[in-house]
Formats: sequence, structure tokens, C-alpha cells
Amino acid sequence: GSTIGILGGGQLGRMLAVAAAQLGYNTRVLAPDAESVAAQTASSFTRADYHSRIVLDEFAAACDVVTYEFENIALEPVEYLAGKVPVHPAPAALGIAQDRATEKAFVETIGGRTAPWAAVATLDELKAAIDTIGCPAILKTLRLGYDGKGQVRIAAPGDAEAAWQAIGQRPAILEGFVTFSHEFSILLARSPDGSTVSYPPPWNEHKDGVLDRSTLPAPAEIAAQWDEAAELAGRIAEALGYAGILACEFFAGTDGPVFNEMAPRVHNSGHWTIEGANCSQFENHIRAICGLPLGDTGLTAPKVVMDNLIGHDADRWAEILAEPGAHLHLYGKETRPGRKMGHVTRLLRD
Ligand code: ATP
Ligand code: MG
Ligand code: MG
Repeated sequence: GSTIGILGGGQLGRMLAVAAAQLGYNTRVLAPDAESVAAQTASSFTRADYHSRIVLDEFAAACDVVTYEFENIALEPVEYLAGKVPVHPAPAALGIAQDRATEKAFVETIGGRTAPWAAVATLDELKAAIDTIGCPAILKTLRLGYDGKGQVRIAAPGDAEAAWQAIGQRPAILEGFVTFSHEFSILLARSPDGSTVSYPPPWNEHKDGVLDRSTLPAPAEIAAQWDEAAELAGRIAEALGYAGILACEFFAGTDGPVFNEMAPRVHNSGHWTIEGANCSQFENHIRAICGLPLGDTGLTAPKVVMDNLIGHDADRWAEILAEPGAHLHLYGKETRPGRKMGHVTRLLRD
């Protein structure tokens, strides 16, 4: 069988390895962390730094195609691998998604609507941006943020200095606060031949900057914006010559969908697809990067709800296992407050 290389050892890598195995592929995971839950399911696991040429050469030689499950991986080793073995999604997509300013500018060039934003590199630039954009606003580090880390709300111009300190005085973007009824995401799968499928959009609810719940089908406010958002996601994927799952987060704004950010990988707001869609996001990612026909994205139940288990939420596992129609996933990570420990997907009649 062919071998799929996966960079990153978290739960997304683990779920990709399960989907790959079902289709008869071997997987090789490369990750630097001792605690890599993908090691539980991958055919082979290498714990090593991404920057070692010897490790990368060996990895490339052992794999037929390489993908990644984490967008904050360094770009340079991914580009190096792409010179030796097909890498999907292409490193260019990763480079754009790693930098919030590049990402927003890129999406604007292809007709997407974003929050008003400005890149800021100094406290003075932040103060000037607050003058232009107004308050409330959100200051986000340009790079490396996830789960709401590296961002701080600015209620009034007087908060500028404290906010600048709070994000560690790093290059950042200031975003105007978007007024929205709901948040949702478009998960699109694209093959190297240009064919695409996309999932019905979940309504995503966040708590403390972390995804808490995804609900399908989405309420009418989201359904009304689905086409426009899905079309934008399709244009983004096409412009990037993308292969794999592309996740785009949106706010359902008053004038239409407002693009928030994208992730060039499988996404937490698509975990419901494992039991709740005919073909999961993980299987469609594997199919896409391997050039196989894409799978059906339709729902398997009238209503699907995915709840993240954060920190000690996962201690309730026995109770969830006792519930008919509840599908429990535990990631096998050490419990820490605020950490995604697992999720549960419930298939409901209505
Ligand atoms: P992820 O884990 O999804 O990668 P992240 O750390 O990259 O998260 P964002 O998605 O940018 O962060 O923001 C986290 C949440 O904060 C959003 O889902 C939304 O609820 C809220 N938020 C972010 N930006 C804005 C904005 N401009 N206006 C209103 N709410 C916002
Ligand atoms: Mg993000
Ligand atoms: Mg986000």
C-alpha cells in the first residue's frame, strides 16, 4: 500500500490516520512532541524536530504524499519536503494562513468581506489604527494564535497600552468588532483535478475563544449566507491550487458572510462529520490528497450536535457512553484546564 506522511501528532493527525487506514493506506507521523496522540494510530511514528534535514530526507523517501494537521508548523521544512514529495495542501496555502494580515489581504483580493483591519507593529501604530477602526476592536498576534490565545479585546482607546503589553508587544492586527448573529464554517474538500465538495455549514458556538458546540442543520440566518460563503471558499481553494480540506470561519453579518480566518487542514468544526456525514472530513481529506473521488457530504441524521469536551468535561465519559446515539471520542491527552480532551457527537431525530 501507499504511505501518507502526516506532520503533527495531535488529535487531528490521529483521526486522519484512522481514516487513512480504513482506505488501506499506511501513515507515518512526524512530530517533535513526546506526547503525540497520533502515535496511537499511525503505522509508524518518528519523534524528531522538523528542522533536521536527515529526518526530512528519510521521511520524504518513505512517503508517497505528505500532509499536515497543524498550521503553526514552521513553513520552511514543509517547503523543503515539497521539493521531494507531493505535499498537500501546497505550502503556499500554509504560508498565507499563518499570517493574519496576509490572509485577510489575500481574501480581500478575491472578493471576500472581512472585518475592518490594520497591521500594527508598534504601540503608536496601534493607537493610529484604533483612531481609524474605532472601538470595540480585537488585537490579535499576527502569527501563532489559536483557541483565542494571543488576542485581547479593546473596549476603549485608553486600553491600547495594556492590550499591547498583553499580547507581548508582538506584530499584530487590529480588527474591528463584527456584529453578527451567528458564527459558522465552510469545510470544502478539493482534489488536485479541481473537483470540490463542501459540507453543510455548522453553527459554531464559542466559549472563552474556544469552539464549544457545532450544530447542524444551521439556523436560517446561516442558511441564507451559505451559498455566498461556500462560493468564496471555492474561489480561495482554486486560487491556491488547493488539495485537501480547507476550513473557512465566517460571521453571519448584517450584510452577508464576513470571513474571519481559514485553516489549511481538517478542522474542529468538522468533527461532527465522522458520524454525522456520509463521508467524514478526515476521509475526504485523505481522498483529496490521494486523488481519489470525493465522498458525499450529506447528513446521516435530521440533526447533528458536536460538543467539545474541554478540560474536566471529559471526566463525564462514563455517562456519555451510557447514552444511546452519543458518539464519544477521547484524545488520550493529559488533562489540563481549557484543553480539548475529546468531543461527543449526538445524532438526533430533530
Ligand atoms: P481558532 O482556534 O479558531 O484558530 P483563533 O485563536 O485563531 O481561533 P479567532 O478565530 O480569530 O481566533 O477568534 C476566536 C473567536 O473570537 C471567534 O470565533 C469569535 O467568536 C471571536 N472573534 C474573533 N474576531 C472577531 C471579530 N473581529 N469580531 C467579533 N468577534 C470576533
Ligand atoms: Mg485560528
Ligand atoms: Mg478561529
